[in-house]
Amino acid sequence: MHVVIIGGGTGGLGVANRLGRLLYHELKRGEHAVTLITDRELHDYQPGYMFSALNTHPMQHYTRKTLSLLHYAVDFVLAEVQEIDLESKKVTADTVYDYDLLVIATGSIPDIESMPGLKDTAFTFYTKEGAEKLRSVLAHWKGGRVVVTIDLPHKCPAAPLEFPLLLDHQLRARGMRPLTDIVYTYPLDRLNVLESLDAWAKPEFERRSIRFEASFIPERVDVDRRVLIGIDKRSIPFDLLVVVPRHRGSKLIRKMKVADDLGFLPTDPAKLKLQGYDDVYVLGDATNLSFPYLKTGATAHFQSEVIAKNIADRLRGLPETAMYDGKFICFLDDTEKSSSFIYYDHDHPPRVATTGGLMHLFREAYHELYWLTVRGLL
Ligand SMILES: Cc1cc2nc3c(=O)[nH]c(=O)nc-3n(C[C@H](O)[C@H](O)[C@H](O)COP(=O)(O)OP(=O)(O)OC[C@H]3O[C@@H](n4cnc5c(N)ncnc54)[C@H](O)[C@@H]3O)c2cc1C
Repeated sequence: MHVVIIGGGTGGLGVANRLGRLLYHELKRGEHAVTLITDRELHDYQPGYMFSALNTHPMQHYTRKTLSLLHYAVDFVLAEVQEIDLESKKVTADTVYDYDLLVIATGSIPDIESMPGLKDTAFTFYTKEGAEKLRSVLAHWKGGRVVVTIDLPHKCPAAPLEFPLLLDHQLRARGMRPLTDIVYTYPLDRLNVLESLDAWAKPEFERRSIRFEASFIPERVDVDRRVLIGIDKRSIPFDLLVVVPRHRGSKLIRKMKVADDLGFLPTDPAKLKLQGYDDVYVLGDATNLSFPYLKTGATAHFQSEVIAKNIADRLRGLPETAMYDGKFICFLDDTEKSSSFIYYDHDHPPRVATTGGLMHLFREAYHELYWLTVRGLL
């Protein structure tokens, strides 16, 4: 049997590496083959984008060659997939690949062109290139109003809250905070889609005078006047606009008839299969799963365990019994020296751990341990 995996991000590498280990002997004997096709030679640890923008570490610290992270029993193809034919079970990239089982892990893309004026004025820490530009602006910051505006849907619930808190912390250390207003906008009437994250961040936003514009749905930017305008016509002037734009699926997925309007795939939340297709698995940001499921690396990681186990069992003629239980965990930084984390699954409501220096040490360690998790070793 031939398993083809599209996407060499957190989810795709997670499945590929687990299959490499679970099926090692069968792959070596040529009974089955696993091929990972991805369009990027480099794999980024995406949380590093925010730390690169804040100049904690250079981006190279958070980047590795994709091939160096891949189990050697898995075949690697560096090419963009142009088309998936679900009926004839073919994937077109540099050549045409037949598959018996397909895994789609193509992620999501922050759409900096999602509203007029955004691309010309806004900075983002949600892409590598955006983070590098923002780092340079923040390094030379002389004061003014920073507006951090968030649109839905977006990946990672934590980073949009962490960024204004970390910026506040950094500007205080540099003596620039009295010269800077920080404004945060969110489309809901609370700071975050997760109520427990709202409860975690709200006292800090108030204590540090980070202004919150609630229920603000950004519509466009008036480039000449440097004003952000919401659909309710609220106007917020800015000196620096930082955006987490609305996300959409990969170009490849947006072309598929089965995808939704934003380019995400209808996915069974427990079995992680494309609805109506028993031989196609979907995970990570590429799914259409909505709250309480979130687009995060942790989600992709836990889902990769389920998919790899089910595929390995299936190839051995065993039943597919693993199911995704909604497990989610995410670290949260409120300063450059203190952190917390949030955890939940179907059986446990969201709980936020005590914020402090000890948890920050764990978070710092996790930045390095990521390279083991994406190899499927942790
Ligand atoms: C600033 C920031 C902070 C974050 N912080 C956290 C955090 O603290 N915790 C957390 O859990 N998550 C965090 N995330 C989110 C996390 O990085 C993503 O949710 C995770 O990477 C999703 O994994 P994925 O495999 O679904 O997609 P990705 O990791 O994005 O991988 C998708 C891959 O598919 C490839 N691809 C797409 N289309 C094609 C094609 N046509 N052909 C071939 N290849 C293709 C892409 O190039 C990419 O390599 C953060 C993200 C950002 C931006």
